[in-house]
Amino acid sequence: MHAPELKPRSINQIVPALLKWFAANARDLPWRRTTDPYAVFISEIMLQQTQVKTVIPYFERWMKELPTLADFAKARQQKVLKLWEGLGYYSRVRNAQAAAQLIMLKHGGQFPDKMAEILELPGIGRYTAGAISSIAFNQPNPILDGNVIRVLSRLFGIAGNTRDKSNQAKLWRLAEELVLVDTVHCSELNQSLMELGALVCAPRQPKCGECPVSGLCFALKENRVAEFPMVAPRPNVMQRRFTAFVARKDNLFLVRQRPAGLVNAHLWEFPNLEVGEKSRSDDAGANQFRLIDSVPICRVRHSITRYRILLEVFLAEATGDIPGDWKTLAQLERLPFASAHKKILKFLQSR
Ligand code: SF4
Repeated sequence: MHAPELKPRSINQIVPALLKWFAANARDLPWRRTTDPYAVFISEIMLQQTQVKTVIPYFERWMKELPTLADFAKARQQKVLKLWEGLGYYSRVRNAQAAAQLIMLKHGGQFPDKMAEILELPGIGRYTAGAISSIAFNQPNPILDGNVIRVLSRLFGIAGNTRDKSNQAKLWRLAEELVLVDTVHCSELNQSLMELGALVCAPRQPKCGECPVSGLCFALKENRVAEFPMVAPRPNVMQRRFTAFVARKDNLFLVRQRPAGLVNAHLWEFPNLEVGEKSRSDDAGANQFRLIDSVPICRVRHSITRYRILLEVFLAEATGDIPGDWKTLAQLERLPFASAHKKILKFLQSR
């Protein structure tokens, strides 16, 4: 529920306060030095579920290697995956390349500036479309990501689960009302909401003393900041165990490419299989590999979403004709690897 006294008067006060604060406090981020819609698009896709400091070197490398939309659209898939290697959630980059190819085909290589056309692109939802449209084209379209949800739910006292349909509708409406106040500065306004969430209105211990809209904040006024936004319970963590095989023939190692349709599709990995909680890791794959040593050469731990993955890695000899490619370490370095398997590769390089 909105705090009644904060609306609508506060909307008109919040916007100039945020704009002034943003002008003085915005971080100098590489994607903020341009309004090229392609660069904005790439940064927004990279920033989904990934922190700014992780994204910066990826973004800089990407723009050097694939400076234009046309370069991206025609780039080899393995090159694209290599540039994305380590960022995870690879469907993002596959969709992004499909979007770039569609723009080449349907819009003659010009990034579309109409919301409806941006929304037609693969992998682009309302948030990303709003970000591209406002940041690259300065159009008054709202955005709502985790940071903005936190800021708005505290400012306006949005109670209950912020993922609920009715709360989502309220939050989008608020974001829209805000961006419509000053249509000359919609890009800055949207970015100021995200920046405030990132730098001041943090999930834990927000710096309300430094907040430009503290005098208008419902949660602060009511001394209930910790109650907003309501956090949905996290899904239970699941442990998974895998056995991976490092099979070597002279200076060649056996690797394979993950098939389309699976998580991490088209990335490379060492042959592996999942083993049950109680099975012995060195029994796994007995019909395809003969272990050279029953002691793992390394153990790799990796977390992805709710999964806590343990990979036990054995030196092995391939006993049959196992599908895959034999590559030198130097060749492996040039391939895009799934993150857990990249750690195995790093271990092999360090030996
Ligand atoms: Fe967030 Fe505190 Fe500012 Fe309210 S006053 S918006 S809780 S930082």
